[in-house]
Amino acid sequence: MWQGQIIKALSGFYYIDYKGSIYQTRARGNFRNRKITPLVGDFVAFESTNKTDGYVLEMLPRKNELIRPAVANIDLGVVVTSCVEPLFSFNLLDRFLVTLESKKIKPVIYITKLDLASAEVIEKMEKMRSYYEKIGYPVYFSNEEGSEKIRRLFKNQLTVFMGQSGAGKSTLLNEILPELDLEVGVISNALGRGKHTTRHVELLTIDGGLVADTPGFSSIEFLEMSVEELPKQFPEFVRAAEHCKFRECQHRKEPKCQVKEEVSTGEILANRYDNYLQFYEEISNRKPMYNKKNK
Ligand code: ZN
Repeated sequence: MWQGQIIKALSGFYYIDYKGSIYQTRARGNFRNRKITPLVGDFVAFESTNKTDGYVLEMLPRKNELIRPAVANIDLGVVVTSCVEPLFSFNLLDRFLVTLESKKIKPVIYITKLDLASAEVIEKMEKMRSYYEKIGYPVYFSNEEGSEKIRRLFKNQLTVFMGQSGAGKSTLLNEILPELDLEVGVISNALGRGKHTTRHVELLTIDGGLVADTPGFSSIEFLEMSVEELPKQFPEFVRAAEHCKFRECQHRKEPKCQVKEEVSTGEILANRYDNYLQFYEEISNRKPMYNKKNK
């Protein structure tokens, strides 16, 4: 019995990387009946006498998973955001960051279309960069060899890309993986969204790391998170919360709240706090999920 990582799942076959060689396998019957679907990125135990007729026997514990792209055990999430066309949105960016934080995926921010931006927008992006870097998120600009810098992060990690429609995810992936030749969606097409191409996800080895070859989520709803979990996904709130009067402070109406204090002094970006309040409302108003899986 060997242990490897699934790098592609297609038509009932799982392609497992074991010490640099790829083994084509299927799930065993009793494995299938357990209703666990192995995902690309999963580590599995398998057996095989040759490279085409193996069997997946067991899945090893999963660190995290995303639905789109359907990948498990992700280390790094590159959030692709444009500064214009569509206009930069703190709200959308923070949605991605909160989701990645909640799944223990390290976020990196990649800003596109700076060549189309006015001086005013560029100044705004510089301010955004200094704030987000201060709270721990590296920010790369497309016009500063950003895609080269992103590549340097790949080593020994599993990386996925995500971001709003039309932000340039496919363009970035094409820069990094020219052989992929992804179709670049046009914002203003008749359906109002980028071209949908249904393809399977595959993990490619680039610069010593694994990269999902399909761009993921273009928008995020907080389907799994509770309001109690939300403040923990804002690193600067976590740091400030040590000085809140109440241990379980939600940084809303409580007295002597350090987060609110730092918003008033500008130490915490007002935009981040406003987004926090909005996400809080969204989660509070969400309909109960009766069949929520226990994790
Ligand atoms: Zn507080």
